[in-house]
Amino acid sequence: MANWLHWRNIPTAKTLFVMIFMAGIGLIISVVALLYLSLHLISTKTNEIDDRRTALSVQGAVQTSVNRMWSLVLDNAVWDEAVKEAYRPTLDTAWLYKTWGSGLKINNLYDGTFILDEHFHLLWGAFRGKPFTEDNLRFLGRGMQFLIDQHAQPLATEKNIYAGITRTREGVAFVGIGLIRPMTEGFPVQGSARRYLVITRHLNPEILSGLGKTFQIDDLAYTAEPSAGPSVPLKSSAGELLGYLSWQARQPGVQAAQAASTDITQIVMLAAALILLFILLSSVGLYKLAKGEQQARRIARIDWLSHLPNRRALIEKLEQSRLSGEPGTKSVVFIDLDGFKDVNDIYGHHVGDQLIVTIAQTLRDKIPPEGMLARMGGDEFAMMVGGERAEEHAAAFAGSVLDYLNTPISLGERTIHIGASIGIASGLLVESTSSELFRRADIAMYHSKSTGKGRITHYDSELNSVREREIVIENDIRLGLEREEFDVWYQPIVDARSQKMIGVEALARWHRRPAGALKPDEFIRIAETSGLIYRLGQFVLRRACFDLQPLSDLKLSVNISPAQFRDPDFENKVAGVLQETGFPAGRLQLEVTETYVLENPERARAAIANLKLLGTAVALDDFGTGYSSIGYLRRFNFDTIKIDKSLAGLVDDDDQASALVSGTIRIASALGMAVIAEGVETEKQMKLLRLAGCDQLQGFYFSQPMPIESLLQLRQQRHC
Ligand code: C2E
Ligand code: CA
Ligand code: CA
Repeated sequence: MANWLHWRNIPTAKTLFVMIFMAGIGLIISVVALLYLSLHLISTKTNEIDDRRTALSVQGAVQTSVNRMWSLVLDNAVWDEAVKEAYRPTLDTAWLYKTWGSGLKINNLYDGTFILDEHFHLLWGAFRGKPFTEDNLRFLGRGMQFLIDQHAQPLATEKNIYAGITRTREGVAFVGIGLIRPMTEGFPVQGSARRYLVITRHLNPEILSGLGKTFQIDDLAYTAEPSAGPSVPLKSSAGELLGYLSWQARQPGVQAAQAASTDITQIVMLAAALILLFILLSSVGLYKLAKGEQQARRIARIDWLSHLPNRRALIEKLEQSRLSGEPGTKSVVFIDLDGFKDVNDIYGHHVGDQLIVTIAQTLRDKIPPEGMLARMGGDEFAMMVGGERAEEHAAAFAGSVLDYLNTPISLGERTIHIGASIGIASGLLVESTSSELFRRADIAMYHSKSTGKGRITHYDSELNSVREREIVIENDIRLGLEREEFDVWYQPIVDARSQKMIGVEALARWHRRPAGALKPDEFIRIAETSGLIYRLGQFVLRRACFDLQPLSDLKLSVNISPAQFRDPDFENKVAGVLQETGFPAGRLQLEVTETYVLENPERARAAIANLKLLGTAVALDDFGTGYSSIGYLRRFNFDTIKIDKSLAGLVDDDDQASALVSGTIRIASALGMAVIAEGVETEKQMKLLRLAGCDQLQGFYFSQPMPIESLLQLRQQRHC
C-alpha cells in the first residue's frame, strides 16, 4: 500500500499507468467483441447458406415429385393392353376400375386416374378409389387445363407426356397427362381417335415427410400463407400461387457457434490474461521508472558527502515558504570554513572529506527547532530558520558553531585546526526574495572572512555597499592586470650599523586605476579574497626579480600572501621565475605573515624547507601584530624576523614595547635569525632600534618606497 502512495507524487507516471490500464481494458473488450462478432457473422452466414441450400433441395423435391408423376404416366399410358381397352367404342369400366381405379390402394403412388378423349373431354375417372361422377375436367383445376392448352398438339401427335402441379378441388396435386398408346410402333392408334391418361397425386403430410427424409429437410410442410421460418412459394403449372412449402431451419451456424463457444471462451480468456499480464508488466516497469525518478529527484536534493540537504533543497524550501505566504522573519546563517583548502592540500582530499562529514554531523545536532541545515558546496554550510524567534535562534546557532569550529577537531590520530567565517541575514520573505536573503548572509560571511576570519557578522545595508564596492574593485583588478596597470615600487633596507642600503622591499602599486589610486592594503586584501592574488603576486615577483637583477649588491624582499603560500605548486613557481629572470636565489627573500604559518604549520614548514633548498631566504613579516611568541616561531626556521612598524614606532615612548623589542631581538639573534625593524620614521627610533640590536632598518626615515627609475637614480647619486 505504501508503494502506491508514491504514485500520487508522480503525476506523469500515474497518468501513464491509467492510460496503459485503459488501453489494456479497451484491447480486451475489442478482442472479445471482435471474436464474438465474427462468430456471430459466420454463424448467420452459415445459416443463410444452409437456408439457400435447403430451398434448392425443396425445389428439387418438388421437381422430383413432378418427374415421378411423369414416369407414372409413362408406365401406365404406353401399354398395349391399355390401348386395347381404352380405345374400345364402349369403355370397359370394370377393367379400367380394376386396373387404375384401385391403384391408390396398391402403392399409394396416385390418387386419381382419368381417361380423356381426343377433345380432352372426360370419358372415365376414378378418385381415391371411387368412380368419378363429374362429366368435366373442372375438378382438376387451372394447372391441368394449362398443361392441356399448352401441349394439345404434341400430346396428340408426338406422343409426349407432360407433368406439372395444379390445385384440384381437393387440394394441391401433382398431375401428369399422356397419350395412351402401344409400346411398339406396329400397333398404331387408329384414325383420329385419341385416349389420354391423366393421373393425379395430392400433396399430403405423408408425401411431404417422405420427401423430407429423402432430401434431408426437417419438418417439410405445406402452408397456405408464408410461415415465420424459411419457405419457398409453390406455383401451379399455370403460374398461380398455390401456397408455400416451409421447413424447420437447421441453423448449422448457431450449432457450430455453440460447439465452438467453449473454445472461443478459452481463447478470449487467454487473450485477456495475456493483456492483463502486459498491463501488469508495464505497470511494474512504470512503477520502477517512477521510483527511480523519484529517487533521482531525492538524490538531487541531498549532498552526497554529508548527507545533508544541498543548496538546491534549501533554496527550494525557502522559496516554498515564500510562495505559500508564510509570515514572520526568516534567518539565514552562512558558514564558510577557514583554512579548509589547506587541509585538502596537506592531508589530501580523503581527510578533507572526513572533516566535512564530521563537521556536518556536529552541526546537525545544533540545528534549532524547525531549522534546516544544508551543505552549500565545498566548505560552505547554511542554516535557515523561521518563526517568531528566528533571529535569536540563528544567533545562538552561529555562536555555538563558531565555538565548535574554533577548537581543534580530532580526526582519527590527527588534530586539525580550522575556523569559520559566519554571516547572518534576517528578513521578511515578503520584502526580499529567498536568494536575496542568501546573498545578504553571504555578504556578511564575506565580511567576516575579509576582516580577520573566525567571527560572526550580521548583515546590514552598509555592508552591502561595502561589498558592492569590493566587487567593483575586484573587476578593476582583473582589468588592471590585463591592462598592465600595476607597478612595483621599492623601499630601501639599510644596514643598521653602516646605514648603507643593502636591499629593498618590493611593494605593489596601482596608480592608474580609473577611479583613482588605491592603497595596497586594500587591493591586496580584495585580491586575496577573490583569488586574484595568484596572478598579482606572480606579477610582482617576476617584475621585481627582473628590475633588481642587474643590481647585484642588493637583496630583494618580496611579500607573499597566505593564499599564494598555500598553493602546493608555489615553490616551483618561484623557481620558475628565478630561472626566467636569471635572478640568483640567494638574493631573494620572501616575506610571509604569521597568520598563515599558524593556520597551516605543516605546510608552512614544508614550504619554507623547500624554498631554503632553492637557496631563497624566508622572513616572518609583521612580527608583533600576532599572538605568537618568538619561541614558538623558531621551529619554522625563518632567516629573518621583521618587527612590525606598530611595534617599532613605539620604542621611543613606550617602555613595555621597547622591552618587548629588545627581548625579541636577543632571542632572535640567539636563534641565528636576522632582525629587521620596519617603519623607522625618526632618528630617535633609528638609534634606539640600532642600540637594541636590530641588524637592518627600513622606514621613511631612510626612504619612501619609489619606482625603479628613482632607485637607480638614487644609487647613481650615491656613487657619484
Ligand atoms: P608591509 O609588508 O608591512 O609593507 C610595509 C608597509 O609599510 C608599506 O606600506 C610601506 O610603504 C609602509 N612603510 C614603510 N616605511 C614606513 C614608515 O616609516 N612609516 C609608516 N607608517 N609606514 C611605512 P604599503 O606599501 O602601503 O603596503 C602595505 C601592505 O600591503 C604591506 O605591508 C604588505 O602587507 C602589502 N603589500 C604590498 N605589496 C604587496 C605585494 O606585492 N604582495 C603582497 N602579498 N602584499 C603586499
Ligand atoms: Ca612586508
Ligand atoms: Ca611589514
